[in-house]
Amino acid sequence: MKVELICVGTELLLGSIVNTNAAYLAEKCAGLGLTCHFQTVVGDNEDRLAMVLQTAMGRSDIVILSGGLGPTEDDLTKETAAKVCGRTLVMHEESRERIRLFFADRGMEPTENNWKQAMLPEGAVVLENHNGTAPGMILETEQAKVILLPGPPGELTLMFEESVVPYLAALTSQVICSQTVKICGVGESKAEMMVKDLIDGQTNPTIATYAKTGEVHIRVTANAQDRKTALKLIKPMVKELKTRFGNHIYTTDEETTLEKSVVDLAMANKLTITCAESCTGGMLSARLINVAGISDIYKSGVITYSNKAKRRLLGVKKSTLQKHGAVSEKTAEEMAKGAAVMFKADVAVAITGIAGPDGGTEAKPVGLVYIACHVKGKVTVREYRFSGNRTKVRESAVSAALSLMRECILVYYSKVTFGKGES
Ligand code: ATP
Repeated sequence: MKVELICVGTELLLGSIVNTNAAYLAEKCAGLGLTCHFQTVVGDNEDRLAMVLQTAMGRSDIVILSGGLGPTEDDLTKETAAKVCGRTLVMHEESRERIRLFFADRGMEPTENNWKQAMLPEGAVVLENHNGTAPGMILETEQAKVILLPGPPGELTLMFEESVVPYLAALTSQVICSQTVKICGVGESKAEMMVKDLIDGQTNPTIATYAKTGEVHIRVTANAQDRKTALKLIKPMVKELKTRFGNHIYTTDEETTLEKSVVDLAMANKLTITCAESCTGGMLSARLINVAGISDIYKSGVITYSNKAKRRLLGVKKSTLQKHGAVSEKTAEEMAKGAAVMFKADVAVAITGIAGPDGGTEAKPVGLVYIACHVKGKVTVREYRFSGNRTKVRESAVSAALSLMRECILVYYSKVTFGKGES
């Protein structure tokens, strides 16, 4: 089945917002085994939208549109899609009632515009919006299935998961199942090389790699007549990936994040953890504290941005800062040791680096980051050279720190080894 995406919005064309809906939908469709050959962005213009929709319906089995379902004048996706599909708009009583309740719950009165959202093309399959007022819809025509979703990502993703995934799965007699193998501590290109032969030879299951900051996810997708058969097809491929990536795989569970795997590992070993951060300014602590239940093992951490703070709060030696500088292996080591003592933690991680855009030198360029992990008296320090802007460098440093924490705990407590691909 061929699927095609159309994202509607002049804001997207002007670059005022990033098209995250396209990335989300494309990834989800690939995961469902649907082939996506085209993505289009079009402004809030009826003629141009009609043109791209007609073209898409002529060459794809499923067309997914995002945006332009709102109550304002420039929201014209539904009206245009109805025209192109030859449908008239009729009042959908259930949607009208949902809109009434949505506003009543908030102590507000809907405006005339809001009722416009309950006018739907006749014969449409209506998709409830549990995060907003604009219902989504599916227009089933002879040429193609046309799926209209709201623009706000929080509304679109929920609607897609709840209503569109089961709809798409039911379109084929096949069942599509996938499993994601999540890898850390191996670079993107190295991971791709390690599975190149599998990708080249893939049939069923298929495998696709997704580069995330500091992580690589490999999605294995199989289709079969039933779930049991699909899972049977997936199993040997996941086993092969486990052989190739070994302990760099932190989970094969869809919901588990890297920070959750670190927290679970620390909890399983009854370890308290702390962070001392410089250039990441608390981002590592924030990611860890996102994990529910962490209060059992994380009591406090510290941001030490200036040299003075590194000395005062962590006991980094003046001579170390003078001789090696704030961004150095030695400073990272002393920061981690100091944090472990200060916060009485079993595991202490320290990050110090140059996030840019200024402050780099030939010897110490922007992107140079040292991360130290102290586990019960043993300190491991790594040097990293990240690329990208300030945000990217800081995000990469946080992911690398999580990866290093995981590795150090596993090496110390589970006596495992890390072969290929250490960063
Ligand atoms: P609303 O009821 O809020 O008007 P809508 O379905 O009409 O929803 P739009 O008006 O097109 O959607 O977009 C609303 C907001 O949703 C945009 O301002 C933007 O923040 C976000 N948005 C829209 N399209 C995208 C997209 N493709 N990627 C990411 N965000 C998007």
